[in-house]
Amino acid sequence: MHSENLPENPRMNQNDKNEKKEFISLQAGPRDHAGEGLRGSLEVIVGSMFSGKTEELIRRLRRSQLARQSVQVFKPRIDVRYARDFVASHNQIFFPSITIEEPAEIFNHLLPQTQVVGIDEGQFFSSDLVRVSEELAARGLRVLVAGLDTDWLGQPFEPMPQLLAVADVIDKPRAVCVVCGSLATRTQKIRIDDEPGANDPVLGGENVRVQVGGRKEYEARCRKHFVARVDAATPDPNDFVSEFLKESPALFKTPQMQNDEASV
Ligand SMILES: [Zn+2]
Repeated sequence: MHSENLPENPRMNQNDKNEKKEFISLQAGPRDHAGEGLRGSLEVIVGSMFSGKTEELIRRLRRSQLARQSVQVFKPRIDVRYARDFVASHNQIFFPSITIEEPAEIFNHLLPQTQVVGIDEGQFFSSDLVRVSEELAARGLRVLVAGLDTDWLGQPFEPMPQLLAVADVIDKPRAVCVVCGSLATRTQKIRIDDEPGANDPVLGGENVRVQVGGRKEYEARCRKHFVARVDAATPDPNDFVSEFLKESPALFKTPQMQNDEASV
């Protein structure tokens, strides 16, 4: 199943994240090419927040590992969202990664046996990411880069546009618009008056192109419902359900959740 069919739930709140262990499918997708890494390639996965980019990146990396290929993953230092040495999707799927500041640092960490290089949050790297990715592909490596294609104003988010231009394979998974339910390609910034760090120039604030952030600061929206300014959050009727869950949790537990509790 393609990741487009598995949109992240943009309304899952921060409190849910520790309880929620999402399953990531290792089924074959349209972009799986056995042995591609031996010839060198650059694959770029772009989209809005909550589009499942990182899940798709991790799915491809896991399949490379199944093929006994040696994988290394890198991410920019700015992404302190969930974990320092892991690439993490919003659904809390983790993959061990090396944190770097400049793309060229990849060469310092690159192991001789590495065949596949994954890079997450590509939009937070300098434009040197394009040169480094091309150099890695020229050396015969399979290079996979995931990142936001636009910022919260809907503007192209460098260096992703340049990377798309030189990529061999491009995918643009789409999220779900929280207003109308159609496919979403935009990242809507919403008001978070009570959030600590909301006005921090590093962690967020309106002067930052896209905050490193979780679900509370952004929504996925379609072209029609996106506005290029900070907007009010879309109310979620399912908030009622999570309140209800707290009171009657047993009704909704899967067998796996019950097993996990029994083993604690
Ligand atoms: Zn919409």
